[in-house]
Amino acid sequence: MKDIRVRFAPSPTGYLHIGGLRTALYNYLYARNNNGKFILRIEDTDQTRLVEDALENLVESLQWAGIEYDEGVYFEDGKAVQKGEYGPYIQSERLDIYKKYVDQLIESGHGYYCFCSKERLDAVRDEQKIKGLVPKYDGFCRSLSLEEAKTRIANGEEYVVRLKLPKDYDVHFKDLVRGDIVINTDDIDDQVLLKSDGFPTYHMAVVVDDHLMKITHVVRGEEWLPSTPKHIYLYEVFGWDKPVYVHLPTVLNKDRKKLSKRHGDVSVDDFKDRGYLPEGLVNYLALVGWSPEDNEEILSMDELIEKFSFERVSKAGGIFDKDKLDWVNGHYIREFSLQKITDLAIPYLVEANLIDEEFAKNNRDWVEHLVDMVKESLSYMSEVVEKVEFMFDNQIEMENEEAEELLKGEGTKSILEAMKEILADVEEVDEELSSTMMKQIQKATGIKGKNLFMPTRVALTGSLHGPEFTKILYLLGKQNILDRIQYVESKYLD
Ligand code: GLU
Repeated sequence: MKDIRVRFAPSPTGYLHIGGLRTALYNYLYARNNNGKFILRIEDTDQTRLVEDALENLVESLQWAGIEYDEGVYFEDGKAVQKGEYGPYIQSERLDIYKKYVDQLIESGHGYYCFCSKERLDAVRDEQKIKGLVPKYDGFCRSLSLEEAKTRIANGEEYVVRLKLPKDYDVHFKDLVRGDIVINTDDIDDQVLLKSDGFPTYHMAVVVDDHLMKITHVVRGEEWLPSTPKHIYLYEVFGWDKPVYVHLPTVLNKDRKKLSKRHGDVSVDDFKDRGYLPEGLVNYLALVGWSPEDNEEILSMDELIEKFSFERVSKAGGIFDKDKLDWVNGHYIREFSLQKITDLAIPYLVEANLIDEEFAKNNRDWVEHLVDMVKESLSYMSEVVEKVEFMFDNQIEMENEEAEELLKGEGTKSILEAMKEILADVEEVDEELSSTMMKQIQKATGIKGKNLFMPTRVALTGSLHGPEFTKILYLLGKQNILDRIQYVESKYLD
């Protein structure tokens, strides 16, 4: 069997998208599962759509996700470098190579020069639309002689090169997800292969590169399925071995529509910025359109590699379910060490101005306790801010009327009095006191259970629910508790 070689071939026209990350991931999993090679190739032949920084963002996003490749484009000290024996891996650096193969197609009669102006092509298309036909090039330049074409080129006329498809010819191919596919050339356009700016189109470049880079499996989104017959035909006329095709179902949102910016987050950066962990996002994304035989849902990268196969990629679109992502990601947050989760939480706490870096350094133990208090309840890291915010403002606001009613209940005043008395005798609320204080208040007031805990919680936090109360007492410490009691008494209880 040939050595497995797969590739991820993004166009640097924007930041890496969730769907793109999944395509990269499936390529990576397949390569690693088969001891094969995974290549990152950059398809930048559409020079009008290039986005600055997109290439660096692609590389960074893959690296963040833990998706490593063996050949292609890397970044070192902010500069793109290429590694591997099949380079260059950036298509705009391969123009001579494409030109050579385009010339070959012309010589063999499988390609032709076309001089049609944009105005003419638009007019043809409009007419076809009016007649209810599928818009398609009408073959106007197909029969120009090579001689005449060359003279026109010598005279400086602008041209493109098109693929000369035979009439009424069935193109067959097999897709590992979709099965056998047959498309007749009468339903395909004479595709432009070389544009007037000297750049190849995607269709030409992808075939030449997949062949020269010895790609064995082309694994990509199903939006490329309609283009595949053109690629297959090119392999046939060049007499090259075809790769195996695997078209992945589109990533859809819950309404079964294509994920799009309009409906929320789509770029890998959006998720990264919100504090999803690479382990969580990758684990969940693997399940969007694929499932392991045992239907296990929590899988490390190594387990994914071991269990991955194209046979279990579904034909139906993969639904991107944010609630499920949150559940999977929350699993990793709970599983990882407090140390690591605290490191990840600090930038969000600093960004929200709850603490500064200096404070985080000097009060590491306190910050760890703070994060520990909410760790179990987090779905993604930026949530830490809303969960701990109440700890940083002693001017307690009641979250709703129910909380205010409860606060004004009969036991509150004596509970708070008892608490103040206990605090008067101590220097600080250590872990020991935080765990016995409520018992002591119970003893002093005779109030217990819910009637004790609820008013105390509401008085010190303004909320009916929240993290474990003893942890809150410890983290607030003596002075903050006293300040809160004083504020609540003067605002609500006088
Ligand atoms: N450059 C194409 C894209 O951005 C790649 C398609 C393919 O993998 O053949 O999606």
